[in-house]
Amino acid sequence: MSSTTTFCAIELRGVSAGYDGIEVLHNIDLSVPAGQVLAVLGPNGAGKSTLLSVLAGLLKPNAGDLVLGGRTMTGADPSVLARKGLCLIPEGRGVFPNLTVSENLWLCTNRGSTKVRVEERAFRVFPRLGERRTQLAGSLSGGEQQMLALSRALVTDPAILLLDELSMGLAPMVVADLYRSVGEVAATGVTVVVVEQFVRTVEGIADRGIALIGGRVALDGPIAEITPELHSAYFASHKEQS
Ligand code: ATP
Repeated sequence: MSSTTTFCAIELRGVSAGYDGIEVLHNIDLSVPAGQVLAVLGPNGAGKSTLLSVLAGLLKPNAGDLVLGGRTMTGADPSVLARKGLCLIPEGRGVFPNLTVSENLWLCTNRGSTKVRVEERAFRVFPRLGERRTQLAGSLSGGEQQMLALSRALVTDPAILLLDELSMGLAPMVVADLYRSVGEVAATGVTVVVVEQFVRTVEGIADRGIALIGGRVALDGPIAEITPELHSAYFASHKEQS
């Protein structure tokens, strides 16, 4: 695909961003074509979550622009971006532990969908949630909570899904299951940006990967091609840190 002819769902142009005057991301250029699955990889503290916060409009860049579907949206309220189809699942799942599975899903009916319809859609993708519909979300396993978080996102029909370390604290088989579902969603044309520390968790679904090292894009390419380079880049950055 040529980047000049591809419609980009979401882009960062020359973005620098950080916290309290400390710059974490330095001059990031990134474009994600519509329907692509991009993996943002990198070691602890590289700035991956910060990058997602900028993409979701939660953190305003100090320099550069956030562009959504060709329109500059820098500084737009996150709720405006959400109405344009941007949906972030933050690290730590974001489900309401004291509500049941069904009640968590019913909160997503604000865009006109009925309770029955949101349940149907969620339980089709994750039948296990259907079996647990009356159970409190806080009593679900980590993997099931992540399924619920994903379901809550999916029933809002996102155009762009931003996922922060879906795999955190979960067994490899559960992670593989979750990413299989993410792959199915991506196959319907949803643009997906996934943050993960390790490439093996996403190599089955990501079209392309970037490696963030020290807040800069150190590698950018098809996931299979950057994997070997990634290992040496991690090594180098760990050596620098130790
Ligand atoms: P991890 O995999 O550990 O979550 P990451 O690559 O996602 O790492 P970030 O969470 O983006 O990295 O953090 C990048 C840097 O920004 C770190 O030095 C971190 O301490 C700092 N940082 C992150 N969030 C904040 C915040 N809210 N306020 C101040 N500094 C922050």
